[in-house]
Amino acid sequence: MQLDALTLMIPGSLALIFAGIFLAGASLYFKSEPALKWWAAAHLFNGLGLGILAAGLATRHPLAIIAGSGLMTVSPPLILGGVRKFNGSKTPLPVLGAGVAIWLTMGMGPMGIDAQRWSILSSFLAWSVYLGASVWCMWGAGRESFKSQIPLMAILGMHALLYLAGSVQVATGGFSIGAAPALNSLFGLIHFETIFFTMGTTMFMLLICKERIDRQYREAAKFDVLTGALNRRILCDSGQRMLERCHREDRPLSMIIFDLDRFKLINDHYGHLGGDQILRSFANTVRSTLRPNDLFGRYGGEEFVVLLADTPVESACFIAERIRTSFARQHRFLEGQPVNATVSAGVTEDQGERELEDVIRNADRALYLAKNNGRNRVEKAEPSLSDNGQSAANTA
Ligand code: GH3
Ligand code: MG
Ligand code: MG
Repeated sequence: MQLDALTLMIPGSLALIFAGIFLAGASLYFKSEPALKWWAAAHLFNGLGLGILAAGLATRHPLAIIAGSGLMTVSPPLILGGVRKFNGSKTPLPVLGAGVAIWLTMGMGPMGIDAQRWSILSSFLAWSVYLGASVWCMWGAGRESFKSQIPLMAILGMHALLYLAGSVQVATGGFSIGAAPALNSLFGLIHFETIFFTMGTTMFMLLICKERIDRQYREAAKFDVLTGALNRRILCDSGQRMLERCHREDRPLSMIIFDLDRFKLINDHYGHLGGDQILRSFANTVRSTLRPNDLFGRYGGEEFVVLLADTPVESACFIAERIRTSFARQHRFLEGQPVNATVSAGVTEDQGERELEDVIRNADRALYLAKNNGRNRVEKAEPSLSDNGQSAANTA
């Protein structure tokens, strides 16, 4: 069996077209990642162009050669556009169109030059510049990193380098235009590598999107949907770790437990949706007061817990008081009527308890006091406070 570069272009073209269709299908599934559509289009243009180029070279039809290489030149700007889209930025149209515009000018313009050589050169340069820029943008994304990012950058970078080497050969005359390249030439290697490029980019483009979507789901699962506070499981896990860290480093840790006052009445008057709005507004009030390292979670229905590392109980009481007054003073309206809503809080400092639950129990006792002493107030747990077995959350 004899294999030449022309024959190799056919599976290359088919692989690209299948990869493009595959990525387009995947983009319907991963709707939140529009980059996949760009990358699908890139592979489709590349595949169609390569097929037409192969047909042109086989039949020595100059128009097909030009059309094929033109379609292929559309592909690398689409890859760059996809990478930038993935990073959350747009790509200006002139940046996307520059490669094709230069290719057209070189190939068609009456410039008194060897138009075919220059159009191939500009197409090859477009590939290396756009793919190089794609690697650069992916590297510079910085904020988020993904495991699939490195192999994807490596494959794009390798393709860019091969095209750069090809540009040098075209510029120095080491490439016969109009005929299929020899398999053992640099251009033969490019066609061979195209199959690897197609499979590799498709796999890692898909994986990088899946990685991000999985990460988004994992992040979303940490939070309570209604209020955006941490959910109880994450609050307790992270709180337990915070408690152990503070013990190890001999730093104070304080806890505030909040419970909205007479919340049942608010639900009764304004319905559950009205009540939900009050819960959201309380969560926003807390968030606007806390430091980035503080933990804030929804412990139960209308009960919230705040954990403050490096904070003695006096400072925690001050913070709780600030949240309480700020919430009580807010002007809220439900169904056009003003709504008064208040919150009670219990505050405690950890006394060397091993389990977070024990700290919660202490804070809950202080909350019980706050409810009994008239609500809309903050109470501090005394270490000597006796366990009377009551839970504030159930106080009527
Ligand atoms: P107290 O001042 O003693 O805390 O009185 P309360 O009415 O707030 O106490 P109770 O614990 O008896 O009532 C809490 C209410 O919170 C009952 C429940 O229907 C309501 N609730 C729990 N979760 C939600 C929620 O997600 N949305 C709304 N709207 N209401 C909720
Ligand atoms: Mg309540
Ligand atoms: Mg309650």
